[in-house]
Amino acid sequence: MSALQQKVASVLEEPGCATNQAKGEKERKAGCKKQLTPGAAAGGCAFDGAKIALQPIVDVAHLVHGPIACEGNSWDSRHTLSSGSHIYRTGFTTDMNEMDVVYGGEKKLYRAIKEIIDKYDPPAVFVYQTCLPAMIGDDIEAVCKAAAAKFGKPVIPVNAPGFVGSKNLGNKLGGEALLDYVIGTREPEYTTPCDINLIGEYNVVGELWQVKPLFDELGIRILATISGDGRYNDVATAHKARAAIMLCSQALINVARKMEERYGIPFFEGSFYGVSDMSDALRKISALLVRQGGPADLPERAEALIAREEAKAWARLEPYKARLKGKRVLLFTGGVKSWSVVSALQEVGMEIVGTSMRKTTANDREKVKEIMGTDAHMFDELPPREMYRMLRDSQADVMLSGGRSQFVALKAKTPWVEINQERHHALAGYDGIVNLVDEIDKALYNPVWQQVRQPAPWERPDWEQDLEEWQSCNQEECAGEVCHG
Ligand code: SF4
Repeated sequence: MSALQQKVASVLEEPGCATNQAKGEKERKAGCKKQLTPGAAAGGCAFDGAKIALQPIVDVAHLVHGPIACEGNSWDSRHTLSSGSHIYRTGFTTDMNEMDVVYGGEKKLYRAIKEIIDKYDPPAVFVYQTCLPAMIGDDIEAVCKAAAAKFGKPVIPVNAPGFVGSKNLGNKLGGEALLDYVIGTREPEYTTPCDINLIGEYNVVGELWQVKPLFDELGIRILATISGDGRYNDVATAHKARAAIMLCSQALINVARKMEERYGIPFFEGSFYGVSDMSDALRKISALLVRQGGPADLPERAEALIAREEAKAWARLEPYKARLKGKRVLLFTGGVKSWSVVSALQEVGMEIVGTSMRKTTANDREKVKEIMGTDAHMFDELPPREMYRMLRDSQADVMLSGGRSQFVALKAKTPWVEINQERHHALAGYDGIVNLVDEIDKALYNPVWQQVRQPAPWERPDWEQDLEEWQSCNQEECAGEVCHG
């Protein structure tokens, strides 16, 4: 078994994965691998997943070893923002061609790494393996090792070629690269009893910046974010954190679990979406830090901050309550946790008519059931035809989903709000829930829906009479002007 096969097998057997744990012995041994079907990579291949997980480390040069289309496919697919360096937004690729297939791409890769270091001098270069060089046998680990020794700079191989599996598997393989080559390679300048890591937070549309001031106020230092607005050197020191919050259990559970195992960093799964979930996350991290030797008054200070911020958030949400009360929502989320959004919307009096449980764990499912009191409105898949029927028959007033489902809502002339990773509005923290509710309100009350729901002129029963009247109108009088009948 090759090193890559071993790595994939170990990730597929991740003991921290709730889905895996819910399986029987026999199923677990068989792993999570599903037979790939044509077009299955449309949702993102393993390479894409690894790049999504790591590209938010903003001061690193992310070099894609492969044909240019792989880089084109994965570049900037998320609005993850940086408070400093912007090198992560430069698309670096070895742009392999037919000649490289014949002669191999290792020399080209080595030259590309040298060129990047000469021109940009980043703290590290991440090299992503893709299908083509993996199939012709390019050894990116060896090239990265040689380049790191020659140039005196970390050159990190991310071995997750697209064909090994899904985007989600790639997320985890990206995390494995951090565990193998980055985390624990540097020491922080100083440590505090309140150093934490955020795992699975990508700073989409600057969401991290909506919650960081809350931690700052409590004296909790975010030592490393893996990976939103991350810095290579911070991630390298992440092993010195006292505790961690895991924000996306699906993507980087292996990182959180292995860091607990290797470095004794306890973690819990939290969410920053919704008033109560944000407060919960602050409460839990404070309690965890106290157990890890943090200041004893931290929970008390956290409660004071929570009370103040919740009061502010509810005051800002108050004007929306009357407008949104009883409005029915269809939730079709992927990246953002269903249970967080469900509880957040219920907090403003909205009614959930259905919520997707795609990409969720058994734990997530239990939480939704607990919040909604029943599992009747949960669905794993909702084919576009069924989704269209629900919206057309006005079973929902608004749909919250990712961009790919937007056209179903638009066809059904139903308001739609982007909620997944392509969103343009930061939804995390106390400010985030106000943003989400404001976006829903704007979508619901946009006058365009009344207009598009009117029958088109040719759909009116009396359209023929209208046409005759128009034709019999004195055209000369109009003198070439648009006829207003
Ligand atoms: S890595 Fe493979 S599956 Fe992914 S974009 Fe490149 S060629 Fe396609």
